[in-house]
Amino acid sequence: MPRSYDLHTHSTASDGTLTPAELVALAVTKGVDVLALTDHDTPEGLDAAQVAADAAGLILSPGVEVSVTWGGRSVHILGLWIDCHNRTLCEGLAELRAYRHRRAEEIGRRLAEVGIPGALEGAQLYSGGCLIGRTHFARFLVQQGYASDERQVFKHYLVKGKPGHVAGEWAQLETAVAWIRGAGGQAVIAHPGRYRFTHTKLLRLIGEFRELGGVGIEVVSSSHTRDESLLFARYARDHGLLASVGSDFHGPQNPWVKLGGAAQLPPFCTSIWADWEERGLLRTDSG
Ligand code: AMP
Ligand code: MN
Ligand code: MN
Ligand code: MN
Repeated sequence: MPRSYDLHTHSTASDGTLTPAELVALAVTKGVDVLALTDHDTPEGLDAAQVAADAAGLILSPGVEVSVTWGGRSVHILGLWIDCHNRTLCEGLAELRAYRHRRAEEIGRRLAEVGIPGALEGAQLYSGGCLIGRTHFARFLVQQGYASDERQVFKHYLVKGKPGHVAGEWAQLETAVAWIRGAGGQAVIAHPGRYRFTHTKLLRLIGEFRELGGVGIEVVSSSHTRDESLLFARYARDHGLLASVGSDFHGPQNPWVKLGGAAQLPPFCTSIWADWEERGLLRTDSG
């Protein structure tokens, strides 16, 4: 039986709702063999996930999803198999989290201006004090009755042109890829379909990313339609990138995203895990 891979997931260390141990336990019940925990801008959950994975015989790729500003937009770069104690990486991610706090204060101020008081404090309660993101604002606004679900909050309050939007000032692409590579990891462009780039712009991103030493692109993602996955599989094949698969699972509250439930890669692309076995990455503690 081929192994089942889910290489993009979140826990309570960022904006997921399951703890790292709960996520690992659910992954086991879903038949996932290799799981990457890739929280936004933090390695915080990785030690706990590793302990749980070792106990369960699940293979865990320590990962991260780094927020980047490129071409005037926010772009996410996944790092897989990072050394999560690497100093340069950890210090860089700490700076991004500090920026997240400044941005959250600004989001709170802007929401207050349109008659939504207490949003920063509310979001902080949902964040659990580790890292704060727009999802935490979204959960608070849903709970306060400003919208029916998180997606509606994003649509009406948190995206460009809406009152609570603050343009991100994240890491540079070059810096993010350097952090990941310096920590021994593989850099992967997350959910390329989310950015709504033109083909020309996406090709420019891929070109720059490859020159910097990035190696992968997320072909299958819950953010992609089947047609988009096929398109990005062709990009991977034609531009020398390895293909990755991830659900971007944030918890059972979003039933349309299934942990470990992503589709298979088209056969013509090379998977990011093609050499993981020979590199000795797929051993569990139990052998
Ligand atoms: P942030 O990194 O704080 O700007 O927040 C980005 C996160 O918000 C993403 O990782 C998703 O979890 C979530 N998100 C972004 N757009 C949407 C949307 N339209 N609906 C629901 N969640 C979203
Ligand atoms: Mn998220
Ligand atoms: Mn993302
Ligand atoms: Mn994600």
